Amino acid sequence: MHGLSLIKLARWSVRERCLAAAGFVVFCVALLAAGRGLASGAMGEILRVRFGGDAERTRVVIDLDRTTRGQVIQAGSDGHVVLSLAGVSPPDRRSGDGHGLVRDFRVAGAGAASRIELDLATSAEIERRFLLPPGDGVAHYRYVIDLKATGRAPTRSTPRADARTARPAERPLVYIDAGHGGRDPGAQGADSRESAVTLAAALALKQELERSGRYRVRLTRDSDAYVDLYRRVAIARQAGADLFISLHADAGADPATRGASVYTLSEQGAGRAVREFTRGENWQRSLNLPGRDASVDRILLDMTQRATQNRSAQLARTLLGELEGADHPLLRRSHRDAGLAVLLAPDVPAVLLEMGFITNPEDERLLNDSRARRRLMRAVAEGIDRYFREPAGEVQMAGTPAGAN
Ligand code: ZN
Repeated sequence: MHGLSLIKLARWSVRERCLAAAGFVVFCVALLAAGRGLASGAMGEILRVRFGGDAERTRVVIDLDRTTRGQVIQAGSDGHVVLSLAGVSPPDRRSGDGHGLVRDFRVAGAGAASRIELDLATSAEIERRFLLPPGDGVAHYRYVIDLKATGRAPTRSTPRADARTARPAERPLVYIDAGHGGRDPGAQGADSRESAVTLAAALALKQELERSGRYRVRLTRDSDAYVDLYRRVAIARQAGADLFISLHADAGADPATRGASVYTLSEQGAGRAVREFTRGENWQRSLNLPGRDASVDRILLDMTQRATQNRSAQLARTLLGELEGADHPLLRRSHRDAGLAVLLAPDVPAVLLEMGFITNPEDERLLNDSRARRRLMRAVAEGIDRYFREPAGEVQMAGTPAGAN
């Protein structure tokens, strides 16, 4: 494959548990130093709202003194973007002029949340949004909303009608990637091939997630078709995916080796991803960065990616917890490098799940058994559910278990 270095998070060893505990302590100390304990449930504060970009693409940055979780209430219809941010109160300056695609903004308190309303100057939609933790010389959290002009004339209704017809919060978009396909069959088992097993699992996971009604779900392929690895990532990014999960089945020389494992991109792989990404000419534009100063864009990209990596590691831990809870066999920790281009998106949290070894008779039987598959995908859906319930940042640790590799 592409020779990228990856970390593997399997069963936590004693050493990892120690590292995680140490990381948690560091995290708590940082919280106390910030003077606001999340555990106490104290409200945080929006410090200010600022804007960047132009009339094609506008970035809205909301500075916060603590982490938050954003929910879209209105995504651009009727000339408004409305979001609620949990656990933070409005800033001193509650309204003002916008910039670029935003004509003006208002912030109002709404219970334990703040409601942010952006009046659009022209028709636009949310391209992506994400939370950046403190770092790179910035001491506070930032909630970023990237807006993109849609080129349609805005249709406006009266603000009063908006309040009543506002759509429910947009559901997160989960992209499921069935590994391999078409002329790339993947690993071969005694009775089955990887590309068929991953497609069956992807369809089962889609069904599980859709059943909850909480997600929009799309597949990178829904038939035995070949799809380029980079293309898989690109379509998920372009669609504004909130999460990308790639499903695979492992293969080993020893038929006794079995169990599931989860991969996320390592620091090393992430560095390479940044280099790959910035080699293209229009990378600033594709990430919706200002594009005037390459070094500023590079820093913004690094910050975006760091936040994404933290969220990916959080998802990997959540998934492994659910699989363990469902008594699904997990692979003993092992070190392995593999190139997994599907994890390269710098702004979409991504994990790769090796569901088991197709070269192990018992794992292969489970991979091809529809009931076992449904059970496994139910655990994965549970993990995804739990991931979306956990606010970004709150379970981040100073050193992830990957540090033990
Ligand atoms: Zn594979």
